[in-house]
Amino acid sequence: MPDTLEIHSLIVWLIFGMAAVTFVMVVFITAPYGRHMSEGWGPSIPARTGWILMETPPVLVFFGFYSMGQFRAETVPLIFLFLWQTHYIYRAYVFPFKTRHSGKHMPALVLLLALIFNSLNAYINARWISHFGQYSMDWLTDPRFIIGVIVFFAGMVINRQSDNILINLRKPGESGYKIPQGGLYRFVSCPNYLGELLEWLGWAIATWSLAGLAFAIYTAANLAPRAVTNHKWYQDKFPDYPESRRALIPFVI
Ligand code: NDP
Repeated sequence: MPDTLEIHSLIVWLIFGMAAVTFVMVVFITAPYGRHMSEGWGPSIPARTGWILMETPPVLVFFGFYSMGQFRAETVPLIFLFLWQTHYIYRAYVFPFKTRHSGKHMPALVLLLALIFNSLNAYINARWISHFGQYSMDWLTDPRFIIGVIVFFAGMVINRQSDNILINLRKPGESGYKIPQGGLYRFVSCPNYLGELLEWLGWAIATWSLAGLAFAIYTAANLAPRAVTNHKWYQDKFPDYPESRRALIPFVI
């Protein structure tokens, strides 16, 4: 491996920079996929294929770099590997087959940008947990590890439950939008994004790493503005949209 800790640090800071750029961009330009898909973004590909392709680097690139690490066979790194792959194998190879898109497309540009980010992010996190970071067995009883893992799995439950509620709003063959009800939709319009944010916040706490923090901040920079946009979209589209519902954080935003 030609990489060094300096190169790794550089890419971690690049991800922090990408978070700042992404935040500014998505505040002004809503990412054109799903309900916000629009013309004028160049060639497009089927949405399901796009999801599988763009979520594959976090599975394969992560596993590849993880496997090259000097601590790859140690307990704590293996637990981190399990956490990461539990999320991403589902996201890449289960979630796209549950969604009901009815022939929807996404711009190839969205796929390209996601491939770049996901590959770099997989590298910094895999390389940190199995090579540059050092986690002894004592880390298993450290409050940061315990709290981080609990937050990660709480986020995963919220994310999956919320995505399932959305997916089940459509009957097979349907492609329209309805008002989601139940679960954390009682409080916010995008609990799936809230769950995703909690997962990577938990990851950042459990790994106590700049790589994990960079990913958590990037996720917030990407998803918080989209949650606000989705919330306004629901309010515009549905005159009877529940007034007390917030966008992302119950009773706050
Ligand atoms: P959305 O909430 O926009 O959509 C999720 C699925 O539900 C899509 O299939 C969508 O269909 C469908 N859907 C959404 N709202 C409705 C509705 N009101 N009525 C009927 N069907 C609906 O989520 P995203 O596609 O943005 O994200 C999917 C997952 O990926 C989420 O869990 C998210 O957290 C995660 N993600 C993570 C990112 C990160 O930075 N870590 C970035 C982006 C996503 P359609 O596609 O037709 O709109």
